[in-house]
Amino acid sequence: MGKLFLVPTPIGNMEDMTFRAVRVLKEADFVLAEDTRTSGNLLRHFEIDTKLQPFHQYNEHSVLESVINRIKAAKTACLISDAGTPAISDPGYLLVRECLKNEIQVECLPGATALIPAVACSGLSCEKFIFEGFLPHKKGRNTRLQQLKDNAYTTILYESPFRLLKTLEQLKEVLGDDRKVSVARELSKMFEEYSRGTLAELCELYKDKTVKGEIVIVIEGNEN
Ligand code: SAM
Repeated sequence: MGKLFLVPTPIGNMEDMTFRAVRVLKEADFVLAEDTRTSGNLLRHFEIDTKLQPFHQYNEHSVLESVINRIKAAKTACLISDAGTPAISDPGYLLVRECLKNEIQVECLPGATALIPAVACSGLSCEKFIFEGFLPHKKGRNTRLQQLKDNAYTTILYESPFRLLKTLEQLKEVLGDDRKVSVARELSKMFEEYSRGTLAELCELYKDKTVKGEIVIVIEGNEN
């Protein structure tokens, strides 16, 4: 029986790749990757020549059985996503569940992910937090926004730069002007930036701004 490793990859800064991640990827029989072009560049950068196989949200169901069979034949597989930790707002859950069903050992290496630095540096309580990932764009969005209002703990959202203002405005409408929020942008990259304040202040800040890069929104819980 082989094994599956979930291997985190940098979210912007190549220096965040761990020694262990490089070794495990080098030693694996094959690497499942969300985007083989992006991951090909990463593997080349670290002189890893393990073969890549596409594994993404559009083919994960269809290739699942053959991947499981390969691992069962004593092969070591790694799963990587475009950035950060696989299975966190990225493909992975289905494969992990299927491996466990088949009694295949799964190990996730500690490493880069966007939510942890964003909450740790938010200035909001990190004692307990809720990770909501991406809000739905249409169906179910209002219900989720309403649920956020009652979250007692700090809440973390992933968001695209194009939707940032709209999301902040909707949050302000539902959670009120004074709820505190922190917006983390471009974590670990050259233009890393945090904007902290109330929802009203951040709506004002981003009102006429063109926002670029990757975003994590951290919202104060309603018990703080
Ligand atoms: N698996 C990844 C992780 O462990 O964080 C998340 C993948 S999800 C498809 C991509 C989202 O993560 C982005 O839209 C953004 O919300 C967040 N993200 C990824 N890299 C980031 C960065 N460098 N700075 C801020 N947010 C980032």
